[in-house]
Amino acid sequence: MNYKAQRGTYDILPKDEVIWNKVQKSCFETAKLYGYQFIETPLFEDSKLFERTVGESTDIVEKEMYSFTDKGGDSISLRPENTAGVCRAFIENGLHNNTLPARLFYYGPMFRYERPQSGRYRQFHQFGVECIGDSTFETDYEVIDIAWKILKNLDIKGIKLNINSLGDKEDREIYIGKLKDYFKNYINDLPKVDKLRFERSPLRLLDSKEEITIKISEDAPKTLDYISSESKEHHENLIQKLEKLNSMDSSFNYEVNHKLVRGLDYYNRTVFEYTSNSLGPQGVILGGGRYDPLIKILGGPETPAVGFAMGIERVVNELNKNEVENNSHIDAVLIIVDEDLRMISQEIANDFRENKIKTIIAPKKSIKAQMRFANNINSKSAIFIGKNEIENNKISVKFLQSSREQIEIDRNNIEEIKAVLNN
Ligand code: ATP
Ligand code: MG
Repeated sequence: MNYKAQRGTYDILPKDEVIWNKVQKSCFETAKLYGYQFIETPLFEDSKLFERTVGESTDIVEKEMYSFTDKGGDSISLRPENTAGVCRAFIENGLHNNTLPARLFYYGPMFRYERPQSGRYRQFHQFGVECIGDSTFETDYEVIDIAWKILKNLDIKGIKLNINSLGDKEDREIYIGKLKDYFKNYINDLPKVDKLRFERSPLRLLDSKEEITIKISEDAPKTLDYISSESKEHHENLIQKLEKLNSMDSSFNYEVNHKLVRGLDYYNRTVFEYTSNSLGPQGVILGGGRYDPLIKILGGPETPAVGFAMGIERVVNELNKNEVENNSHIDAVLIIVDEDLRMISQEIANDFRENKIKTIIAPKKSIKAQMRFANNINSKSAIFIGKNEIENNKISVKFLQSSREQIEIDRNNIEEIKAVLNN
């Protein structure tokens, strides 16, 4: 029987580690520079948590959730996103009693039963930040800025911010009425999925991937024409800050995109996405926005919040894999010239590892085969442990990557051994 990874899932192999670490490091370090703290919530939650927050008529809840009934009869779902989980944890652990805003970030796998295609997986990773407890446009700017700094640090080219405002709940109801009036004229032209959206979640017509709907929505009413003066002010202040960022850093580009509504129900006011030059879903690197009503919906005190979620696979895809130098993962392979010296080699290996020298003892084979092994695994050096060497309290270090010269070093002089291996 041959087993294969499930459709839409894949393995991260040792050769991928450098690039994955680079992305994760950029995310974590940047978030921490802005005072954000790590939070990790369980991979599965009560299904109702997502139904209530993400929204019953969203793609995620309608079609994409991995839900099952557990042995106790409860309906459980693998998390399709992490904002709901973070907010649940925020309330449950009483974080609202601490100094606000809470600045939190997360990283980990998410699960969605999607049709796999490039940039779309069934298990994928997100990094995200949530700033909970501040309603000002400055925090919208803060999270937008964090995302920008991460992408800039990673030197990803062609990045653009798309931004829009949905206004508050009351604005949205008025706007949805206008939108329905508009689309009513075209109802017979809409494909079946979008007829359904017209009935159940008209905002998402603007988010449609159907060609004809995309065309029709070009002239649809714009949210910005229907939002309250407070929402409008919030939006305009934010745009001013983005203008300023652009004037200081010309590689930062943004555009107000009237069709940006985002797929999740819980957003209000600011919504945004960062896109790259890549085509299709692959090109949408991250999405976020303000979600002031969410904490209250979940039974917590009214607490405004804003955040984003970044697709790690999509970031990794943007990085030029050749640019990441192929660091040797091993410093020393110990070549055992004489079987009697196996015990002492073990001691040397322990010494090395205690001193942070990455060490492997070569497999029990001929000296030639041991050398081949050291070369094949791309070790920095081969270290010969022979009778002569041990008697003189020496080891012979042969460099395998640059000079290929061989030198003798005092076995106890770990500092020197470290120094030559780090050169
Ligand atoms: P789309 O409209 O492309 O389906 P979405 O609205 O479902 O996007 P979000 O829920 O906002 O996406 O997720 C945030 C980010 O997570 C996306 O911008 C993307 O980078 C990434 N992402 C979402 N779904 C997947 C997936 N199935 N595979 C890989 N990355 C994903
Ligand atoms: Mg989606």
